Amino acid sequence: MIGVRLTYLHRARGSFGCWKINEDESMKVPSQRPGRFALITLALLVGSVGCQGGGSPRVPIGPQPAPAQPPTAEFSDLHDQSRLPGLEDRRFDQDSYWRVVEPVVTGSDLFRVNVVGESAEGRLLRTISFGEGPASVFLWSQMHGDESTASMALADLYALVAQQPNHPVIQAILEGATVHTLPMLNPDGAQRFQRRNAQGIDINRDARALSTPEGRTLKAVRDLIDPDFGFNLHDQGIGTRVGSSDRGAAIALLSPPFDASREVNDVRQRAMEVMGVMIRAMEPMVGGHISAYGDTFNPRAFGDLITQWGTSTILIESGGWAQDPQKQYLRKVNFVALLAALESIARGSYHGVPMDLYLNLPSNGRRVADLLIVGGTLVVPGLQPYKTDLLVNYTRPLLEEGGTFAEVGDLAETEALDTLSLDGLFVHPAESALDRWNGIQIRVGADAVFTVTRNQDGSDPVWTFDGGPPANLRKRR
Ligand SMILES: [Zn+2]
Repeated sequence: MIGVRLTYLHRARGSFGCWKINEDESMKVPSQRPGRFALITLALLVGSVGCQGGGSPRVPIGPQPAPAQPPTAEFSDLHDQSRLPGLEDRRFDQDSYWRVVEPVVTGSDLFRVNVVGESAEGRLLRTISFGEGPASVFLWSQMHGDESTASMALADLYALVAQQPNHPVIQAILEGATVHTLPMLNPDGAQRFQRRNAQGIDINRDARALSTPEGRTLKAVRDLIDPDFGFNLHDQGIGTRVGSSDRGAAIALLSPPFDASREVNDVRQRAMEVMGVMIRAMEPMVGGHISAYGDTFNPRAFGDLITQWGTSTILIESGGWAQDPQKQYLRKVNFVALLAALESIARGSYHGVPMDLYLNLPSNGRRVADLLIVGGTLVVPGLQPYKTDLLVNYTRPLLEEGGTFAEVGDLAETEALDTLSLDGLFVHPAESALDRWNGIQIRVGADAVFTVTRNQDGSDPVWTFDGGPPANLRKRR
């Protein structure tokens, strides 16, 4: 057996002097390679567990009255001050992310960085922790590789902690909470900007089977920390509406159920109270665009099982926002919500915040399609030209790229985020959009690649739609 030892990369010095490596607290986690074990030293990660003596005595802050309204404008200003450059494009790989974050978290004594596992392709999974207060919090982001909004917000949060440790809010968090983060849990998926990991598995359906090294790492870290609060940070489809309204869901929240009964126990109550704080913080920024994610119990999902395991868990799904193709505004909204949540947890001020703030949120509503194309005449070889509507959904909707045909026919009642009118024009599908099997036909599911022309014979082309409109026609978000 080859022993692989992964140790911390950096540890706190200075005022928080009670961290020490304790071999007894080392943990063996089987790796995905047979016969190979990753010995992961997590004593530093658990930090305050067993931290008695040696450190300065800690005075619990205790419950404080809930603020009527978190200072959204001030938190938004703090984000302007701490937003890290280098993450302007929401598609970034682990190396790019680490290049931005590493100087911040290894340049300050306030952070503890630990390697806690490896992805299926061997990329390191790291936790970044700060604070040493009694309330333990664990936040993990991007278990779906193409859902990067919260990873950006966490980077900005590290920057704020590093730059303004004496700000009263940061001071309260550092003294009242121990915050562990695992940004970009799925670096192999992020490398390809896809949902699943390199094994082709959706990590958020692997909480029970634990077939993925990323899922095993998440569970191992959770079990070791046994956090009071967990934050499961995702992005959802940008076409999701709030309830039955026409408003897009910028943020959806969920207190995942611990079983099919969907009962509210004290674990979930605490999550709902904290979400009340977050809703108040976000309302001035995205009021009317906050919804509740579906609460059907899923025995394979991490949020549900982590709730079952006793952690008050909060799911945040970042959706869409107009004129925000790179989700930079939603990055700020995430930052503000997380800062408000961490402060309230550190101060205990979430106690008594009405659960109704969460319970009265409209549910995630229907999901509208991406693009409706109306008025054109389709020209398919071997068939008479015919007028029809076309529906396109994008693989990368924010960028209007990677479109495939979702429907062909009369789509007059179909809702889409955008409509393209081709009155009097002809649509000539490319080869890749056609099936040649017992004849030629346009195929639902095929790449939406076609040329728009003024003439039926294909002459006088106007423009080509290559999985998405030409640049001058891209207007959304
Ligand atoms: Zn997700």
